[in-house]
Amino acid sequence: MAQSDEQVTVQHPDYETVIGIEIHVQLKTKSKIFCGCANQFGSLANVNICPICTGQPGTLPVLNRKVVDSAIMAGIATNCKISRVSEFCRKHYTYPDLPKNYQITQGDRPICLGGHVPIERADGTVKKIRLTRIHIEEDAGKNMHMATGESFVDINRAGTPLIEIVTEPDISNSFEARAYLQRLKSIMYYLGISDVNMEEGSFRGDINISVRKKGEPLGTRVELKNLNSFRFIVASIEYEVVRQINLLESGGKVRQETLSWDTKKQETVAMRSKEDAFDYRYIPDPDLPLLVVDDEWVERIRKNMPELPHFKFNRFQNEYGLSAYESSNMVESPELATYFEEVVKRCKLPKMASNWILRDVLGFLKQNKIDLEDFRAKPSMLAELIVEIDKGVINSKMGQEVFVEMATKGKYPSIIIQEKDLRQIGGIEELQDIVMQVTVDNQSAVADYRGGNQKVFAYLVGQAMKATKGKGNPIVIRELMRKFLDD
Ligand code: ADP
Ligand code: MG
Ligand code: ZN
Repeated sequence: MAQSDEQVTVQHPDYETVIGIEIHVQLKTKSKIFCGCANQFGSLANVNICPICTGQPGTLPVLNRKVVDSAIMAGIATNCKISRVSEFCRKHYTYPDLPKNYQITQGDRPICLGGHVPIERADGTVKKIRLTRIHIEEDAGKNMHMATGESFVDINRAGTPLIEIVTEPDISNSFEARAYLQRLKSIMYYLGISDVNMEEGSFRGDINISVRKKGEPLGTRVELKNLNSFRFIVASIEYEVVRQINLLESGGKVRQETLSWDTKKQETVAMRSKEDAFDYRYIPDPDLPLLVVDDEWVERIRKNMPELPHFKFNRFQNEYGLSAYESSNMVESPELATYFEEVVKRCKLPKMASNWILRDVLGFLKQNKIDLEDFRAKPSMLAELIVEIDKGVINSKMGQEVFVEMATKGKYPSIIIQEKDLRQIGGIEELQDIVMQVTVDNQSAVADYRGGNQKVFAYLVGQAMKATKGKGNPIVIRELMRKFLDD
């Protein structure tokens, strides 16, 4: 898959880095996990709330089936074992944004166990990052501290469904961490179960980092909380590894603590130490029955799973002859992959389709800051353009002009070609006259050429193209020009 930017990874001859990642994925269900309130980001404060998600006494939670569907889907996509029976627990802590004073989560009987996510290492080999578990839980609300010194609580987010995906400590450096996160994010996006918007917090990670002398048992870890950008994750890992190695080398000890990344100072800062770690007093939640998932349920989800990015990545190479690079860019988003396949279905020219999409379509979208779904050139239009170029109706330079018109106005190429009279001039007779005229008008260049200056050839061809207003078939013009000059 896509290789990320070149990364400098800290390497010490005697030490190795050990990283385990916990990712919270916010599910995009219509309603919250245990009540009927809208699961919506960006609403006015405290509008999507009810007695259940505000933790009023006497209310009872009812589990949203879609949440279970999503968790099963995530589990299948990451090769987990789906538990036939799992259990909800209460994790207690007191914080204003958690009105029940406990969070409903899963303890030692989560919905998914085991599993792995394959990643590509920097050297191109594949490594499996093992997953410990995936469990279902509810999000808390949000405390907001104002510059005025006042604090407010917004309960809208309380009861937002989450899945937490926990890896074994299998990740060895920031490159692998990034590769894992990119792969996981793309899988979750493909499954359609989350927006995976890191800025809005719908895909956020806790990174556990330790170092150890090679061959020794696991070292003490620190936990970096709620990182919401790949760049910060990589930077904080690099920073922590150096800090911990220096600390150990100078005779110190790593303290088990929770840190956050200070984006201004570019360093990790302590939030709280694990020594005063909270006892969450996990207990099974008596308000919720055991969650029983039968084979039929799992099979139904399995059958309706969308094709995952790495399968598409392989298939596009085998079926359409794309290079690994092209394929990796094409499967970056499921929408782009679908667009590509829709174009190919109509024009049957996958290589040309890939070139136009990766260069011109993506370029246009980027330049005009629009999303593919708002792109006015539909697959049938791009397919038509490709066919017209392939058949020689227009040359590729005119193709560019048609493309821009098609992309901005949403018009079919055949219509644009007709309206603007862009049909390629490919007729030998017509082009012969033009070539002749150019040589008459540029006699000194012709003399130069015949005197051995090959460079003026391109100039003469250019003049002939210009005389056709760009509509000449450049291959035919080159041939005619060569014949004429060498005669
Ligand atoms: P907690 O629930 O306190 O966060 P867990 O035992 O569930 O603790 O571990 C959370 C994450 O930390 C997992 O991804 C795990 O792989 C990782 N982890 C555990 N020990 C280490 C270690 N020594 N170094 C790095 N990561 C670790
Ligand atoms: Mg943790
Ligand atoms: Zn509610």
